[in-house]
Amino acid sequence: MKLKIGSSTLELVQGDVTRQDTDAIVNAANKTLLGGGGVDGAIHRAAGPELLAECRTLGGCETGDAVITRGYNLKARYVIHTVGPVYRRSGPSVQHLLESAYRRSLEVALAKEIRSVSFPSISTGAYGYPLEDAATVALSTVSDFLRAHPEIELVRFVLFSSEAFHTFEDVLDKLA
Ligand code: ADP
Repeated sequence: MKLKIGSSTLELVQGDVTRQDTDAIVNAANKTLLGGGGVDGAIHRAAGPELLAECRTLGGCETGDAVITRGYNLKARYVIHTVGPVYRRSGPSVQHLLESAYRRSLEVALAKEIRSVSFPSISTGAYGYPLEDAATVALSTVSDFLRAHPEIELVRFVLFSSEAFHTFEDVLDKLA
């Protein structure tokens, strides 16, 4: 599924983010940046040990922020590591932190003149953010960013499960 936002494209696919040929892929990292399970583990395995070596030099990343490294053995030239919030029910701050993770990832991309970015669904695995709520935050934050920054030509969401893919499709249908 593809949607035009100004001159940019927002795309949803089901698949593996580590295999994408966009300029950058985004990692749903943890604050240490020293590797984890889920998509983080898959990205480190595909990129090779040099990725962890570069991450060690960065000194971690705050929740809602993003940092960039090279992509090493990946097709993507760069990895943008962002830290989404661990979900909890009370308080609005988880939503703001998830919005910030998407926005900061794209700001870091802009600073490197990156034109295309692939995202996984941040915080919806081990961090427990409900999928439909996370999809709404993800798609509305990225759409707003693309309207303001046509320099980013393509954002692709790469959803691992068919459940995640169909949830993102339904939410994008409603937003569009
Ligand atoms: P978090 O800690 O931010 O919740 P996880 O890695 O546990 O991160 O999960 C985030 C999402 O990434 C989940 O929806 C999970 O299914 C998905 N995922 C896991 N592996 C991959 C992959 N190789 N490509 C894309 N998405 C993936």
